[in-house]
Amino acid sequence: MDKTTAIKHIPYAAQWIEDDDIQAVADVLKSDYLTTGPKIAEFEQDFAQYVGAKYAVAISSGTAALHAACFAAGIKEGDEVVTTPMTFAASANCILYCGGKPVFADIDPRTYNIDPKEIEKHITEKTRAIIPVHFTGQPCDMDAIKDIAKSHNLIVIEDAAHALGATYKNKMIGTISDMTCFSFHPVKHITTGEGGMVTTNDEALYKRLIQFRNHGITRDRTLLMHDEGPWYYEQQFLGYNYRMTDIQAALGISQLKKIDRFLSRRREIVATYNKAFANIDEVITPYQTDEARPAWHLYILQLKLDGLRATRKEIYTALQQKGIGVNVHYIPVYYHPYYKQLGYNKGLCPNAEKLYERIITIPLYPKMSDEDVEYVIDAVKEVTYKRIKEVLTE
Ligand SMILES: *Cc1c(COP(=O)(O)O)cnc(C)c1O
Repeated sequence: MDKTTAIKHIPYAAQWIEDDDIQAVADVLKSDYLTTGPKIAEFEQDFAQYVGAKYAVAISSGTAALHAACFAAGIKEGDEVVTTPMTFAASANCILYCGGKPVFADIDPRTYNIDPKEIEKHITEKTRAIIPVHFTGQPCDMDAIKDIAKSHNLIVIEDAAHALGATYKNKMIGTISDMTCFSFHPVKHITTGEGGMVTTNDEALYKRLIQFRNHGITRDRTLLMHDEGPWYYEQQFLGYNYRMTDIQAALGISQLKKIDRFLSRRREIVATYNKAFANIDEVITPYQTDEARPAWHLYILQLKLDGLRATRKEIYTALQQKGIGVNVHYIPVYYHPYYKQLGYNKGLCPNAEKLYERIITIPLYPKMSDEDVEYVIDAVKEVTYKRIKEVLTE
């Protein structure tokens, strides 16, 4: 192969599946239960134990986990729920699924997380819940958020899709609020293909979550309105089929055993990046608060556009041409045409909008080799140091 066609490709994120993961899945395929079998309960137990929560409910995706949590929280038509615009659309879509109204509060420009002072400004008599997102795996200011929730009687649902294994003031994410939602999409810390989890310490919420993921059906004799016999079950509200399969749960059990190794590799790569980029004037590296230990799902470079000799788009394209799977996390949720059509307009959250103009996500995943990390560092240095026109190919 000649040099010009030997294109390197380093994705921005990737799963790490090993032989024991494959064996765990194969074992389920040879067993009696492909879904709603023993692996679900085992995965839920392992997961609850890992984060230190009383209950964990396995669900078909992180998005379904958020939907289930909003339902269990009782979000309905006319309710307002405050969340951040600097997130994946699912963090706000789950509010719409329940007929509620997402209210976007601006971010703290240092941490990129929702700013508690901005939450406070958006509370009305219709507000029912707050959905903070631990963006990039860096925990939000949960003490401040919990104080606001307490004084206004609001439910807190953490979107911890980026934050499996993170701690806030030495408490594991997954134990702090009413409910915490996780995702096992392949780009996240551990994967089940598609999959999610809700953790809670509240038994009533736990029971609603379990029922919601199975059409609203219960067979629990103590919950039935009446009982016509041993075959009898009841659908008591409108739920969904949001069940996870045993095939996925087996993969999740196997992956969860590796979480410490995955996390320390992520933290090691972040430390290498931080050190390498510390003295490039053109970029700002991720800020880290003292009270939290992030799980680092994403590594985001913020460009100081004023001093740069190139636009964000040129830098993005140049990195892409070098085979680096760059990305932008995220387009503010309310920029999307669907939200625009619902009446949301630009200008709502100036800090999030300003950040969006300047960010590029570079690769970060545990399986990433030291060589790939160095390759990315060299490429970032080149496109920020040199005149970009010399780096961009036609
Ligand atoms: C990935 C993600 C979700 C959704 O998870 P899925 O498992 O893909 O449905 C929700 N919120 C955030 C912040 C995410 O990154």
